[in-house]
Amino acid sequence: MIVAMWESATDDQIQEVTNHLVKMGFAVHRTTGARQSVLAAVGKRIDFDIRELEVLPGVQGVHRISAPYKLVGREFRHEGTIVRLPNGVEIGGKQVVVMAGPCSVESREQLFAAAEIVGRAGAKVLRGGAFKPRSSPYTFQGLGLDALKLLREAGDCYGLMVISEVMEISQIELMLPYIDIFQVGARNMQNFNLLRELGKVRKPVLMKRGIAATIEEMLLSAEYIMSGGNYQVILCERGIRTFETYTRNTLDISAIPVVHKLSHLPITSDPSHGTGLRDKVAPMACASVAAGADALLIEVHPSPDEALSDGAQSLFPEQFAELMDQLRMIAPAVGRTI
Ligand code: PEP
Ligand code: MN
Repeated sequence: MIVAMWESATDDQIQEVTNHLVKMGFAVHRTTGARQSVLAAVGKRIDFDIRELEVLPGVQGVHRISAPYKLVGREFRHEGTIVRLPNGVEIGGKQVVVMAGPCSVESREQLFAAAEIVGRAGAKVLRGGAFKPRSSPYTFQGLGLDALKLLREAGDCYGLMVISEVMEISQIELMLPYIDIFQVGARNMQNFNLLRELGKVRKPVLMKRGIAATIEEMLLSAEYIMSGGNYQVILCERGIRTFETYTRNTLDISAIPVVHKLSHLPITSDPSHGTGLRDKVAPMACASVAAGADALLIEVHPSPDEALSDGAQSLFPEQFAELMDQLRMIAPAVGRTI
């Protein structure tokens, strides 16, 4: 950490800041230039709050150099994490893994039709919400346990792995026998109690970026899961809230290379929630793969106009097949396969 003192800072103030840093466990190296003094604090601690120093008299600015997380940081595992699913599919390897299916599981017919469509087109993982975090309490809330059973059946029938959202701690046990990946939704990215519990399970967790979360906050949330001992974490950019109104959210594609630089964890892109409109989904999925996404999470419905949730952002079957064809051309250009 670097602490820059004001030109007007007194020796006493500089000493006070030095003492504070030493008390925090840092070794302090002082450099005095022609105009101001700068203190370089070196140490292993990562759990400090730079504001403690910012408020001290004589301090002009504090710059953190080490990241506030350790397990999710690239330094922890230079080569990158590969999350292996039970059927051998790897997320974070050369193949870009496509996870697709309806927003919500609505019925056996709907889910089996969706599974057949996405499996035939090349998806490896079937998505479908059983517990739905809806903005309004009056809209469809999901079929719960029945949906989990259908997901497992449809997944097994079409050779697909299964991902579904867990909204609260009590659902973890219930979901364990039926799903291959736990999804933590954007609204729960900072539900730290839930994250801690998911740290205790030994199944992959795909954690979405919160609606207004910085990349650093997303990484710190992933640290909660990893610090519990579950290292099978997949991050997901799903769009953040901005001032733009032509799309539901703003898909922050730059988060993909940023995360790859800072962390060893694989990152998924969700262009469905990221844009909210089906005509924007394919271009943003292509852009995400070009930017280095390790996986895609895409909503596909056998008849989107009748969907009980997120129909407007769900692809028609033929649109999804066409997108997969496009991705098969784009992936090799960036050294990947689909
Ligand atoms: C979903 O995947 O259906 C979902 C609710 O996503 P998010 O948490 O990104 O809104
Ligand atoms: Mn949805």
